[in-house]
Amino acid sequence: MPFALLKYGLNGDFPFEKDADLPPPVSLKKRYDVVIIGGGGHGVATAYYLAKYHGITNVAVLEKGYLGGGNTARNTAVIRSNYLTSDGVKFYSESVKLFQNLSNEFDFNIMYSKRGQLTLAHTDAAIRGFRQRTEVNKHFGGKTELIGPKEIKELVPTLNMNPGHQPVLAGLWHMDGATARHDAVAWGYAKGATQRGVELHQLTEVTDVVVENGKVTAVKAKQGSVDHIIECGVVVQAVAGHSSLLAEKAGFRLPITTYPLQAMVTQPVKPFLDPLVSSPAFHCYVQQTGRGELVFGGGSDPYPLYNSRSTLELKEELLAHAVELFPFMANLKLMRQWTGLTDMTSDYSPIMGESPVQNYYLDAGWGTWGFKATPICGKTMAELVATGKTPSLIKPFGAERFNDFRQVNEMGATAASH
Ligand SMILES: Cc1cc2nc3c(=O)[nH]c(=O)nc-3n(C[C@H](O)[C@H](O)[C@H](O)COP(=O)(O)OP(=O)(O)OC[C@H]3O[C@@H](n4cnc5c(N)ncnc54)[C@H](O)[C@@H]3O)c2cc1C
Repeated sequence: MPFALLKYGLNGDFPFEKDADLPPPVSLKKRYDVVIIGGGGHGVATAYYLAKYHGITNVAVLEKGYLGGGNTARNTAVIRSNYLTSDGVKFYSESVKLFQNLSNEFDFNIMYSKRGQLTLAHTDAAIRGFRQRTEVNKHFGGKTELIGPKEIKELVPTLNMNPGHQPVLAGLWHMDGATARHDAVAWGYAKGATQRGVELHQLTEVTDVVVENGKVTAVKAKQGSVDHIIECGVVVQAVAGHSSLLAEKAGFRLPITTYPLQAMVTQPVKPFLDPLVSSPAFHCYVQQTGRGELVFGGGSDPYPLYNSRSTLELKEELLAHAVELFPFMANLKLMRQWTGLTDMTSDYSPIMGESPVQNYYLDAGWGTWGFKATPICGKTMAELVATGKTPSLIKPFGAERFNDFRQVNEMGATAASH
């Protein structure tokens, strides 16, 4: 007789706490100090830090679908800081640091897994770019080295070193490269925020933004068939692929175009691949999850669109490239393919900060790379909302940079690596 099982199973001293327990829904209030539009990782992270560090809890997060159901649920969870510009490296390095402690902070496992990220160079020009990134990284906090074919082969023995007759000449080895469970990040932030008094309203779509004398005063929202007008002191929009649509409702245009981005996953196989591997030349990155599946993806679809349908064209192209890098993948079964809507800027950097409308703040332009920024973006956006001052870490990423030619060009460091 398994007495221990009976003893612990029937004993109320060891209650099971469901990880993602959220308070039951409440009715929308007439007014909040802060309304955050979008219940993805960024929205709930901002709410969490507002409550935790600034004591601002009269906050509503309005999400048209379900918590973390947008790009947060669809991304491939690459976390890294090996960017090209000093502004980029400083910003993303802070995010990596916050990620490393999130499980402790939440008392909830986000499955953070540090495994290193390897980007492959197939040309001399790519090596030159990698040299620059290595040096910028060393100066501003990332752990990155340029390595040769011998070390690459040791790190990834199954890699084809001559894919498509474009030999692997060198690699950018980023030791801080990691992954985390994306849903858990959203759940952890949402739980921490709601425990501190923030309200999360799912199935609540913001349909309009009310601006009076250049200042936001309210948002209009729809819950089922019921319309609401919610007054507010401050609004943060964090709606990723829908950024330019929402900005239009607030009365201004954003330099953002939305493109679909697809990814895929295979059946699970025995663990063989620890680092995350990406090849900008092949527009492909491959990584193995803790369950053994191979997750892989590439660049955005080539046309702007608000449709999250997966396509055969991308499947064929991406599979061909993945198989060039890891030929044995030809024998694997593809389990799923999915798509998200990415809000792309022309310099491949985000837009964070003030907007032309007073008290209406922007957390946008996260394109294919915003999951890794979730903690630091939430923290700095909360500081901006609470103090009205833009933290120095995000100053370079204001929307005004597109007017005065101060773009933060991260195209070369984003590409297929996300
Ligand atoms: C296939 C794919 C792979 C990716 N891989 C990576 C990666 O490996 N690493 C990385 O760093 N990034 C990656 N990204 C990018 C990353 O997913 C996003 O940049 C990030 O998740 C953005 O977070 P968010 O909270 O701003 O957006 P989301 O999670 O999309 O949240 C925005 C929310 O706003 C809601 N919303 C929209 N309009 C309204 C409205 N009018 N009213 C109310 N709610 C609204 C949406 O329903 C959505 O839930 C990838 C993206 C995709 C699609």
